[in-house]
Amino acid sequence: MRILLVEDEERLARFLVRGLREEGHQLDHCTHGKDARARIEALGYDVIVLDWMLPDDDGIAILEHLRREGIRTPVLMLTARGETREKVLGLRTGADDYLTKPFEFEELLARLQALHRRSEGAAIEHVLGDVVLDAKKRALRHGRTEVSLTAREHALLSELFAHAGEVRTRAQLLGDVWGHAFEGDPNILDVYMGYVRAKLAKITEADATARVPSIKAVRGVGFRLSLEDEGR
Ligand code: CA
Repeated sequence: MRILLVEDEERLARFLVRGLREEGHQLDHCTHGKDARARIEALGYDVIVLDWMLPDDDGIAILEHLRREGIRTPVLMLTARGETREKVLGLRTGADDYLTKPFEFEELLARLQALHRRSEGAAIEHVLGDVVLDAKKRALRHGRTEVSLTAREHALLSELFAHAGEVRTRAQLLGDVWGHAFEGDPNILDVYMGYVRAKLAKITEADATARVPSIKAVRGVGFRLSLEDEGR
């Protein structure tokens, strides 16, 4: 597995780095949130081990940021404090698991492997017609054609695929993809619709016979992704 460890406690970090590398995993380690965010966005990891309290940041803020950006890499949170409230908050924010310090190395290892297995299974997120939305590759796929997506495009398509055939309102899409606290220009949604339609069109360009879903605007309401057989 490619693992990122974000932990500022030197002794614990050293111990974990050594242990996980001995198990044959590829491990990157950083101590600060700023570093962690940059690495996660630039490099693909299979799992992330994230400490709750960091010198410049807290784990929850990092986690919220990642999930907002559509990055779904499984995250195991480490917390020094055994408070239920924080665990609940962590899990609500999108952590996949947590461990309270101190913990046994074997337990961490077993949980990381379980998270990785689960995410492998979930890599193919949605299939509609002849198009696969692949979460792990963050791409649309059809046969050998692969069209890569930005994190935001992927998040938007993920919402549309999850509700294929239904109308998603503008408010729902903005909330799901940009966050409920979004206060920017709502026309961003139309801009991104243009981007993802262009990406879907690339599949059609590669294979005109492929059944490719299309996104229809429903005036005054929102958008619907569906497979249309008519006119083909
Ligand atoms: Ca810490």
